[in-house]
Order: sequence, then C-alpha cells, then structure tokens
Amino acid sequence: TGAGALLEVDGLTAGYGAAPVLHDVRLSVPSGAIIAVLGANGAGKTTLLRTLSGLLRAARGSVVFDGEDLRGVKVEHLVRRGIAHVPEGRGVVTELTVDENLRLGGLWRRDRLDAARALDEVYDLFPALAQRRASAGHQLSGGERQMLALGRALIGRPRLLLLDEPSLGLAPRITAQIMALLRDLRERTGLTVLLVEQNVRSALSIADEGVVLSLGRVVTRNNAAELRDDADLRHAYLGF
Ligand code: ATP
Repeated sequence: TGAGALLEVDGLTAGYGAAPVLHDVRLSVPSGAIIAVLGANGAGKTTLLRTLSGLLRAARGSVVFDGEDLRGVKVEHLVRRGIAHVPEGRGVVTELTVDENLRLGGLWRRDRLDAARALDEVYDLFPALAQRRASAGHQLSGGERQMLALGRALIGRPRLLLLDEPSLGLAPRITAQIMALLRDLRERTGLTVLLVEQNVRSALSIADEGVVLSLGRVVTRNNAAELRDDADLRHAYLGF
C-alpha cells in the first residue's frame, strides 16, 4: 500500500502440493529498498522468492510489480520487466566459462548494444571475474561463483533483485564484500533488493528493514536496527 512501492504482495498463499507453505503473505517493498527476509530453516523464504520470480504459481493472492498484476504472467515476461532471481546454489553453469555464463545472462536482451555495455560494467564491478574470464565455472571459488551469479543477473539491468542466501558457504570477508557491493549498487542504480539470508547479522548490516517469516507467515516487520536489538525476537525466530 505504501506510496512508491515497487512490489506489493497481498494475501499470497503458495506451496508445492495441496498444503501451502506460504499463508496469506503481505509485503510492500519500496522502490530502492533493501529488505532482508529472515526466518528459521523451512520458514518459507526460498518459497517466497520462487513465487515472486514466477517459478512457482501462487494458489491465491496478488503480486503487483510497478503497478502491473503479475498473476499468471510468464517467467520470461517477469525477467523483461526487471525481476531477477539469483537462486540458492547460484545456478552457474559449471561447464561454461565465466564469459559464457555472463553472456547467457544477456542472451534474451533485444538491446544488444546495452547488453555489451552491461557486460563491461559487470567486469568493472567484479575485477576478479575479469581476470578469470576464460576459466570454467567449476574452477571458481565459492565467492567467485556467487559474484558470477550476481553479475549474470545484473546484465539484465534488473529493478528488483531476488537474492537467495548469497553468503552460503562463503568466508566472512567475502560475504562482507558482497554485502558492501549490494549497498553500493543500490546507491548508484536505485536497485531494489529482497535478500534471503540465514546470516542475519550480515543481512541486517545492509538492509533498511527486515521481514521475519515463521511457518510461512509474516510475523514481524521492522527496521533493521530494531530487529538487531530485539533479543526476544532473535531468540524466538532467528536463533541467536
Ligand atoms: P531454508 O533456509 O532451509 O531454505 P526456507 O525458509 O527457505 O528455508 P523453504 O525452502 O521455502 O524454506 O521451505 C519451506 C517449506 O517448504 C519446508 O517445509 C520445505 O520442506 C518445503 N519445501 C521446499 N521445497 C519443496 C519442494 N520442492 N517440494 C515440496 N516441499 C518443499
């Protein structure tokens, strides 16, 4: 309902079979915000991202992106509208080189010139990838793979980035680098980010607000600083 919301989710119920995983989820994401999606294992965080990116069809509810109702819309259209999903595990094609993976991220784009420009920008953003242009995906470190997955998403110049567990398996230093980069991207491009993280501290270090899911329902939404300081909430839902 918020003015300037890029994404409005209301009454969203979704899951994999007869029994829903998400129940009546309501979420408003302002344009340019970084929102952390938090909650224990199995709370439904990944399911939420999969539903928003069109990989899962909602049973009920509405998803409105930039004023457009996305119900029943094809994934390809969502991508063209500016929704990019970087799944947990990252989806890098390990047999292809860094350069080939990045070009894959731009194949669907009609504006070839801008796709080429975006490729150069990604290499500027991730000098480590530029150095490893010709390396195969399987030769990369975990951090490099995460950067590649992010870079591939950025080639589409998304407006909304759905990012699932970017810190998974990464050293704290690399996680911090990725978080800093996200914040920087938001400042420079106005990118809006929904960030699913088990690493609550990292996520709240860059998020404006956090949403806490438990058993597929939104139980709390608050600004990041207050969530960090709310010991009861942390113990109840976040495990620290
Ligand atoms: P995690 O951090 O462990 O990924 P999560 O909060 O992202 O947790 P989800 O992955 O969304 O949680 O899972 C929510 C529920 O949906 C869990 O009970 C899980 O068992 C179930 N689930 C997840 N994926 C599937 C699937 N492909 N088929 C059936 N059930 C699934």
